[in-house]
Amino acid sequence: MRIDILTLFPEMFAGFLDGSLLGAARASGLLDIRVTNIRDFAEGIHRQVDDRPFGGGPGMLLMPGPVVACAEHVVGVAPAPSADEGSEDIDRSARGRAVILLTPGGRRLTQEVVEELSRRERIVLVCGRYEGFDARVPAALRAEELSIGDFVLSGGEVAAMVVVDAVCRLVPGVLGDEESARQDSFSNPGRLVEGPQYTRPREFRGMGVPDVLLSGDHGKIAKWRHEQAIAATRRRDAGSSDRPGEPSPHQSPVPSKKAPEPTARAIETTPRSVP
Ligand code: SAH
Repeated sequence: MRIDILTLFPEMFAGFLDGSLLGAARASGLLDIRVTNIRDFAEGIHRQVDDRPFGGGPGMLLMPGPVVACAEHVVGVAPAPSADEGSEDIDRSARGRAVILLTPGGRRLTQEVVEELSRRERIVLVCGRYEGFDARVPAALRAEELSIGDFVLSGGEVAAMVVVDAVCRLVPGVLGDEESARQDSFSNPGRLVEGPQYTRPREFRGMGVPDVLLSGDHGKIAKWRHEQAIAATRRRDAGSSDRPGEPSPHQSPVPSKKAPEPTARAIETTPRSVP
């Protein structure tokens, strides 16, 4: 898969792209990730990329020229295509390529969107800065807009890293164990979040491990995990998983000795104690 990142701050990506999982996948040729500086496509001695918004208002907007020129260069589309070239461009875009502007108001990133993007041959991520893009940029590039959540960052770079990280781990061969991605939160058919998990030691600070996980009965374990995932998803949908006093698996762990009287809710959601 090829991913292009267009940014005014290419240096922000160095450590990220060379890191363990992505670095290895790039070295082995599974991923071709390139970073291009939008400022290289700005004109004039000052290489200006931003200007004040028409109609007034605070801050500066990214001028359309440098962003569009940079994206067209990276994608290999001639500027102002003829009608024929234009329709060919749309076909190619639909088949395998997506130009994506990171914007707070764009389509919300979910695991479903991540899966969709991981099936593309190529994605181009355009990072905004300042007050964002001139409104003619998405139209000129026939670009999609993508948001990583309902909050405002100071630039699209961190948002692009989120997209790259989530998408790349779904590219076959990038994760060591493909099965692990299939079992992750939001990745199963019901889009459930993962329930509680435990590793050694069997006892930690007076907390044990649910009996069923030590039973060796794989059928029972799978059933228990599924029930826990449903309960965790319900708690999350109710917005209660992190509220103090709620029986989240992390907040109400299995006592290793002498379980206190469980509450009605705790029976439903808290794993049983280890004898
Ligand atoms: N004035 C804009 C915010 C600009 S923030 C508005 O009110 O919508 C500057 C840049 O940060 C944006 O152009 C975008 O590229 C990036 N950005 C900020 N929040 C983001 C989010 N939630 N998702 C994706 N990109 C975001």
